[in-house]
Parts: sequence; structure tokens; C-alpha cells
Amino acid sequence: MAYTVPKLTDYSTEALEKAADECTAACTAEASEVRTEADLKSFRDRWMARKNGILTQVNDLWLKGAPKEAKRETGIRVNEAKAAVADIIDKAEHLRLELSTAATDSLDISLPGIRRPIGAEHPVARTSREIVAVFQKLGYSVAEGPVVETDYYNFEALNFPPNHPARDTQDTLFIAGQEAKPQRERLLLRTHTSPVQIRTMEKMRPPIRIVIPGTVHRNDPPDASHSPMFHQIEGLAVDTNITFGDLKGTLDHAMKALFGSSVKTHFRPSFFPFTEPSAELYVTCFICGGSGKREGDAPCRPCKQTGWIEVLGCGMVDPNVFEFVKDNGYDPKKVSGFAFGMGVDRLALLKYGVDDIQLFFQGDVRFLEQFG
Ligand SMILES: [Zn+2]
Repeated sequence: MAYTVPKLTDYSTEALEKAADECTAACTAEASEVRTEADLKSFRDRWMARKNGILTQVNDLWLKGAPKEAKRETGIRVNEAKAAVADIIDKAEHLRLELSTAATDSLDISLPGIRRPIGAEHPVARTSREIVAVFQKLGYSVAEGPVVETDYYNFEALNFPPNHPARDTQDTLFIAGQEAKPQRERLLLRTHTSPVQIRTMEKMRPPIRIVIPGTVHRNDPPDASHSPMFHQIEGLAVDTNITFGDLKGTLDHAMKALFGSSVKTHFRPSFFPFTEPSAELYVTCFICGGSGKREGDAPCRPCKQTGWIEVLGCGMVDPNVFEFVKDNGYDPKKVSGFAFGMGVDRLALLKYGVDDIQLFFQGDVRFLEQFG
């Protein structure tokens, strides 16, 4: 039952002490019930309010009603009770403050911290960076371009005219709803990083030396050696008097820097619409050292026992490609150049002895942490 201030009829010392003790005990009991900020406010108002608060009532009922001879002692008791009540309320306020702090910010600084795992470079990203670094040392700069391309940059300006049979070799992923546009403006996911060659030549006058790393897409169902998304690095060098000898010397140097100074290079004729003549570059197998055999006479699978691994396609830039950027200083009668392109994922597979390209893109930490 809630405490109410009694009227005093007995002003003896014992009676005054008893009344004061009951008052402070009631205040202590009510303070222990305070839980929330609202509890604290009503508790403080009930006891401290100037108009009709309990301390005001104590003052009015006890002190003003005291007989003349008891006034002094009653005044002392009332002041003691007021001080005790003020002290109880003060403590209740502090306790409430501590409770609210604890609720929003409980922090045990003696607990051990949470150790975050340290990440590692993805094997494909690392291989790409290593290849780019080899060419940067030769003075090449890095160029990048959009993954969603137009038909013009992906095919036409690279000497694949509409209906060119070479388009069939690249199963292209087209963006839907483009039929109303002229063919050269239709959007697709780039099938190679070569569009960046044209984009760069539109912006920069010769001489240029660039490498172009990036993701490309083809409509290949995923299996152990195919992925609809994969990575390429292309290179392009254009200047006056660039010859096939420059191409061979540059790539021979790059392969030795990537796979070791003992590898030999070997060029075989090939065809690409944007280079003429074109070649495929082979290096001696860096797994079996060119013997075609593994330990115990086991066949070397990566090179199919031939001792050679195809690494990239290359060739002299077709003069027809320069015609598309002729106005920016690329007159095919005055400049020449070479280009090359390689699949980064395949090289990473070979380098790390991984037998399934899907492992690179499944995001399985158990696989990836082996490269940390
Ligand atoms: Zn081999």
C-alpha cells in the first residue's frame, strides 16, 4: 500500500523518530521499484513536487502543526528526513543512468577479440597481375573498357563485317530487345577484350603500347574447361616500322619472364580476322619441361604428351582495322603494329595444376584459401 504522510498528534522524540524512519523506509522501498525512465520521473515527482509532494506534505503536516515547544526538534527531524529522501532519489537517478548505459553498450573488454581471416589474392587475379607486370616493365600501359559493348566495337571495327563466318566461332550473348536498332549499335557482352584496342586508338594517337586485362563472355555451357565468363589479356603495339620480328622478340621475352628463362617459344600459322599474318604461340611445357612425360614415364596431360602448350594468339594488325581509326593518325600506309591475346584462366589452371575451371568461380573458401 502506498505511503501517505500521517498527521502527528504525539510530538515526543520517539514518535518523531518513528515517523521519520517510516517516511525514509517508504522512500527506499519505492526507489527499489524504479525500472524505467518513466518510473524515475513519477517517483521523483511524488516525493519532490513543490505542490503536494510528500516532502511538502511532511513540512505542512508535521512542522506547521507542531506545538510551540516541539517546533525546534520537529524542524531538525523534518530536515533530516528531507536530506535522506533527497539522497535516496539521487542514488536512484544514478542507478537508472548506469542501467541505461549498460543496456546500450555492454562491453567486456577482458574478452579476447574476434580474429578476422586474412584474405588472399584470387589465383586468376594474381596470374592476370603477373602477366600485366611483365608488359608494364616493357613500357606498356593498362587500358580498360566496357563489358557491355556494341556490335561495332566487338565485331565490325575489328574486321568482322556482318555475316562474316568468323562470327560463328564466338557464341555471343546478346542483350535482349535490341532488334529495333541498326546492327552496329546493338548491345552484347563482349566476347574478347579487343574492342578496347579500337577504343584506345580512337582516343590516343600512335605510338601506343597497351595491355588490356578484363572479363569476357561467351555462350559456353560451364564444364571443366569452359565458363560463360572468363578472363583475357590482350596487348597492342603500334608505331612506325613495327615488324613481325618485334612481335616474336617481345613475346619470347614475355614468356621467359612468365614461365622461366629455359622455356622455348614456337609460332604456328593461324587465322584471326583482325590480324594478318596471324600465329599461335606455343611454349615448351613448363610442367614436363618439354619431354611430354611425367615422373615414372606417366604421360603429361596438360601438353597432351607433345611437350608444347599453346599460350596465346597473335599477329600483325590487319590494315583493315587501322582504316576504322585512320583519322586519328593510324594510316595503314604509315603505321604498323602487332596484337596478341591470351586466356588468363587457362594459364592459371596450368600454373596451379587445377583441373576444373569452375573451381575458380564457385567462391568456395576451402579451395581459395589454398592460395593464401
Ligand atoms: Zn607437358
